[in-house]
Amino acid sequence: MSCSYLVAFKRIHLIIDALAEITNVSETGSPGAAGSLERSMEMGLEILEDMGMRHPWKGHVEPFRMIGNLYFVGTVPASSHLIDTGGGLLLLDTGLPQSVYLILEGIRRLGFDPSDIRWIVHSHGHYDHLGGTRAIAELTGARTYIGRPDAPLASGEQDLTWARELGAQFYEAFEPDVLIDDGDVLHFGNTNMECLLTPGHSLGTLTMFWNIEGADRPLTAAMHGGTGQNTLAADWLRSHGMPLSIRDEFRAGLRRVRDRHVDVVVGNHVGHNGTLEKAALLKRNPAANPFVDPTEWKRFLLDTERSLDEMLAREGTPGIS
Ligand SMILES: [Zn+2]
Repeated sequence: MSCSYLVAFKRIHLIIDALAEITNVSETGSPGAAGSLERSMEMGLEILEDMGMRHPWKGHVEPFRMIGNLYFVGTVPASSHLIDTGGGLLLLDTGLPQSVYLILEGIRRLGFDPSDIRWIVHSHGHYDHLGGTRAIAELTGARTYIGRPDAPLASGEQDLTWARELGAQFYEAFEPDVLIDDGDVLHFGNTNMECLLTPGHSLGTLTMFWNIEGADRPLTAAMHGGTGQNTLAADWLRSHGMPLSIRDEFRAGLRRVRDRHVDVVVGNHVGHNGTLEKAALLKRNPAANPFVDPTEWKRFLLDTERSLDEMLAREGTPGIS
């Protein structure tokens, strides 16, 4: 494990702990609970801001090849992945606007030309996943893709990007070129990406499945584009005029995709698939690639559903299961 990985690894645990605190809030409505929520959010956001906004370089991760034509080019606050499709580069999520330079430099250090980015696909429409899009799309001319229900977030029409919650203002609005509907299969060079709408974390959250090329055998990658429960908490939904039934849609989405065969789980935050731990293992022993684990996808989604249940139990607002 290199020094930068170690630093990043320690920091992500701080973030995960802090964000777990954010979601571990009860829905009693008592002033104590509200105070606890505020304190937890302050703590989590302070760390996130420090890592990704005020000092983006502290969230730097050395870019690396995960497997075949799939590369990690993101940061600790938000993952970004690069796919070399043979017919141009596909960038999956662009991170916070402050870390665009890290992504572009990471792509260059991997031996690619950032101007070859032809497509930008977003896992969902939150600030830490699309904040860098406007700059990168303007630099490269890349076409931008997003789940249709999240288009008003990208364009700034709906103030639901979570930018304010991260202590920022969303100055980087853009009009997405392509709006993705449930079941769409997108073709990018040698890569076919099947997209399913799995709403919950945002209404336009996508789960994507695609073929990995360049490995020693055919492999399927998948990303669930939003498993965080910050936007599923009862108080957040109510304060944004959204129905609690979104939690049932989230659960249905998890169940809909969990039995699919997936060889490589791709996370849009490093904690989702143990990105940094696996990167360190891979560096030590490139012959046994830890990113290939056909059991991980289902386990990850079952764990996510379990933590949803825990949140609902804490709130005392159980959803339909
Ligand atoms: Zn999000």
